[in-house]
Amino acid sequence: MTKMYDFIAIGGGSGGFNAARVARGFSDSVAVIDGASELGGLCILRGCMPSKTLIYSAEVLHLAQNAKKFGLNIPSAKVDMPTLHQRKLDTIKEFTDYRVESMTSGKYDLYRSFAKFVDRNTIELADGTRLQGKKFIVSTGSSVSVPSIPGLDHSDIWTSDQVLDLDFLPESVIVLGGGVVACELAQFLNRVGSKVTQIQRSPHILKDQASDVSETVEKAFRDEGLTLYTDTKLSRIEKTDTGFTAHFAHEGKEKSASAAYLVNALGRAPNTSNLGLDLAGVELKPNGQIQTDEHQRTTNPDIYAAGDVCGPFEIVHTAVLQGEYAARHAFDKPSSVFGPINYDHMLDVVFTDPQVARVGLTQKTLDERGIDYIAADYPFDDHGKSILMEAKYGFVRLFGEKPTGRILGAEIVSKDAGELIHALSVAVSNNLTAADLLKTHWYHPTLAEIISYPLEDIVDELE
Ligand SMILES: Cc1cc2nc3c(=O)[nH]c(=O)nc-3n(C[C@H](O)[C@H](O)[C@H](O)COP(=O)(O)OP(=O)(O)OC[C@H]3O[C@@H](n4cnc5c(N)ncnc54)[C@H](O)[C@@H]3O)c2cc1C
Repeated sequence: MTKMYDFIAIGGGSGGFNAARVARGFSDSVAVIDGASELGGLCILRGCMPSKTLIYSAEVLHLAQNAKKFGLNIPSAKVDMPTLHQRKLDTIKEFTDYRVESMTSGKYDLYRSFAKFVDRNTIELADGTRLQGKKFIVSTGSSVSVPSIPGLDHSDIWTSDQVLDLDFLPESVIVLGGGVVACELAQFLNRVGSKVTQIQRSPHILKDQASDVSETVEKAFRDEGLTLYTDTKLSRIEKTDTGFTAHFAHEGKEKSASAAYLVNALGRAPNTSNLGLDLAGVELKPNGQIQTDEHQRTTNPDIYAAGDVCGPFEIVHTAVLQGEYAARHAFDKPSSVFGPINYDHMLDVVFTDPQVARVGLTQKTLDERGIDYIAADYPFDDHGKSILMEAKYGFVRLFGEKPTGRILGAEIVSKDAGELIHALSVAVSNNLTAADLLKTHWYHPTLAEIISYPLEDIVDELE
């Protein structure tokens, strides 16, 4: 007999796990299906948490290596890769154990298998078991994509997975790509002592950011000795006796770069194949992600989607919010707090150093929508706390609506920008004005108090 559930999550990562957790509050009949050999999902196992563990160590190392600037004598500071690797394993194990415990605690049925739809409300597991659901959520995540560049499919080419699991120091590495993952990993490798060459197709790394934001990070990278090529066209990858050579066009010339290792960080693609989505009536967007409405419903209203598999932003808190909201909607449990996600309040962070953090509407979107606004900024090389911290790269920029002064968006490039941006995230999500924020106490000397300077500019201009 086919077992029937009220709610089935296909994928137990950030989106699926949190959807099932919320669904369990409304029903005893919930199942999670995950086919991975290790439970935990991308964020915990091979994404946010391992990368940030390693990046933080590299930051500490960078500070120690620049001790002289701070009047300190640290004779030698270098990485100990086996120990760094072990620390990462230990840290990740703590997070994984907690997640596995939650998933195996018997709150819901857990099936360790891949699943595919065989019709609109039935899935089949690898062993042929069939399960029926009143509601489903598809949260199967994403995988590294391999664009069709000759040689890029060589089996020795690394992805972020291998970089995050390194227990030795690679002498030299080529990092292909200029997105978030590529930039974070390139700087990490460079800081721990690899000779890094980063090759990016667009005129700037972090191409979705404002150009002066990207330029600030590019300058920091080059100042640290990372070789960065932007505005390139990759023609082929060659496997050599000593590693890899990347051939590319740059500034009208054919160039090449060689290194012992090569990382494909050119992007990820949604995991939608072998899911039988067509049999379930679930359609895809032109970019290959699952199409959803604002309630996370796919084109089959009993099937929801969350996370990297549907986008539009492939980051964890979005996957979590989407999963939680989908479960509420599936059980018709509206909440005054958790509703459809307002992407005009979007928050994102890049963990380079300087970090890049952004919330709300970008200047490009404001211009496209014809919104009248004031942009005000202030540089960190003219700010007390950042000067004493030797953290002078970057700036804060705020966008205040005219004539209301409502903060519609902000971008920060700086040390710890990912922490600082949250003050502005509160403002953007709660329709606070520049005047509201200026009434707030800004402690001296902090990095955060820099936000009060462009706030003053906006208030002055509006008055
Ligand atoms: C190196 C790196 C660093 C990152 N850093 C950050 C960061 O700092 N901050 C941030 O917000 N985001 C970061 N991300 C992105 C973030 O990790 C993802 O957006 C997020 O984890 C996606 O969650 P998800 O639930 O969509 O997918 P996942 O967590 O990948 O979960 C999908 C699950 O579905 C399972 N599955 C797949 N197919 C099937 C099937 N057919 N049947 C059953 N199970 C299936 C998989 O086994 C997997 O467990 C990073 C990503 C990478 C690669």
